[in-house]
Amino acid sequence: MSYPYAYEAPVSQTLFDRAAAVTPGGVNSPVRAFRAVGGTPRFMVSGTGPYLKDADGREYVDLVCSWGPMILGHAHPEVIAAVQAAVARGTSFGTPGEGEVELAEEIVARVAPVEQVRLVSSGTEATMSAIRLARGFTGRAKVIKFAGCYHGHVDALLAAAGSGVATFGLPDTPGVTGAQAGDTIVLPYNDLGAVRAAFAAHPGEIACVITEASPGNMGVVPPAEGFNQGLADLCRDNGALYISDEVMTGFRVSKAGWYGIDGVRPDLVTFGKVMGGGFPAAAFGGRADVMAHLAPAGPVYQAGTLSGNPVATAAGLAQLRLLDDAVYETVDSVAAEVSGLVTAALAKEGVAHRLQTAGNMFSVFFTEDRVTNYDEARKQEAFRFTAFFHAMLAQGVYLPPSAFESWFVSSAHDGAAVERVAAALPAAARAAAETTA
Ligand code: PLP
Repeated sequence: MSYPYAYEAPVSQTLFDRAAAVTPGGVNSPVRAFRAVGGTPRFMVSGTGPYLKDADGREYVDLVCSWGPMILGHAHPEVIAAVQAAVARGTSFGTPGEGEVELAEEIVARVAPVEQVRLVSSGTEATMSAIRLARGFTGRAKVIKFAGCYHGHVDALLAAAGSGVATFGLPDTPGVTGAQAGDTIVLPYNDLGAVRAAFAAHPGEIACVITEASPGNMGVVPPAEGFNQGLADLCRDNGALYISDEVMTGFRVSKAGWYGIDGVRPDLVTFGKVMGGGFPAAAFGGRADVMAHLAPAGPVYQAGTLSGNPVATAAGLAQLRLLDDAVYETVDSVAAEVSGLVTAALAKEGVAHRLQTAGNMFSVFFTEDRVTNYDEARKQEAFRFTAFFHAMLAQGVYLPPSAFESWFVSSAHDGAAVERVAAALPAAARAAAETTA
């Protein structure tokens, strides 16, 4: 395939070839391989503020921010200093440490429904453990999830998942057995009637409902008014737990994540991304009476050699402590500005599109109609995104390499960075308009 704006990236291509020889598909997480958009994935060598630099020496305005975590931009001096200080003290002890306590206290202080928290190393671990805990607590097996929501690569949650699974159009994945997925009930997003019907069809069997607090893994599809509250109510009325997955939204869309926006109280919450400051740190937490079922306090087993790693917790804590109201105001206004520029450029070229937002998360669907669930998301003209993506990339703007992902900005995206995005948009919008399927 060739693109009007494609340019050579010889060093990245050489690295990709080397990577492909020793790593399946040349990457350690599928969406990074650019398969949905084609072309050579850029191998990045450094990041500063809103910019990334690739192995060919080209600079990009980064609108991915490591898929969410880098809310202060890359290499924030205070986060780096905290990491350097932590590293100098030693990198892992396999014992409790004060940093873990401080990070847990910071999370508990920010998100009212979270009374206790357990630290883990990835969002996948957080959702996997939360599901196990919900099953252990309720003594029930079934889990409700929504099509297009991604909760990491947990076997039971890969059915009709978003993110890379959506990008590659996979219905589900080989390797997940019927037994592992058999207790998962997949329902259309934003459809409370379907949830009500599922509870009615399986009385006393449903352990929990897990949902992205506001989905970003099928593109940005916010919950309809009352949807999350309806889920919480249905769970309460049926003796199930309501799990809000805030791995993406947590500490990004507000100080208290999506909970800070809609105020719906979950029983359990999962976190990752921002709370790790760019390191592998994640968490799950919630009601103290539920968390008390977790080992060693209770019988539900969960553990991790590197859980609460001192370097990761230092990075996460440093980042969280910097996230005050002023930072969120900046991130919100950058998001509003960039999304406004995108929609203006596409409108000018007559490209049918929907710019959807959820706090400071946003994405573009190449369709006229508002998108409220995964089926509607999949109806968009994703081929237009491909043309748009490559035109932006060629002009030094790095977008998520998929039409089914949220875009992310940071407080480091200053006027100069936004101007570069603005300058790239007209040609990209033209490319989206002119391309054919
Ligand atoms: N939950 C949500 C909402 C996510 O967006 C992700 C990752 O994108 C995960 C869970 C899994 O997190 P991780 O990639 O750290 O395993």
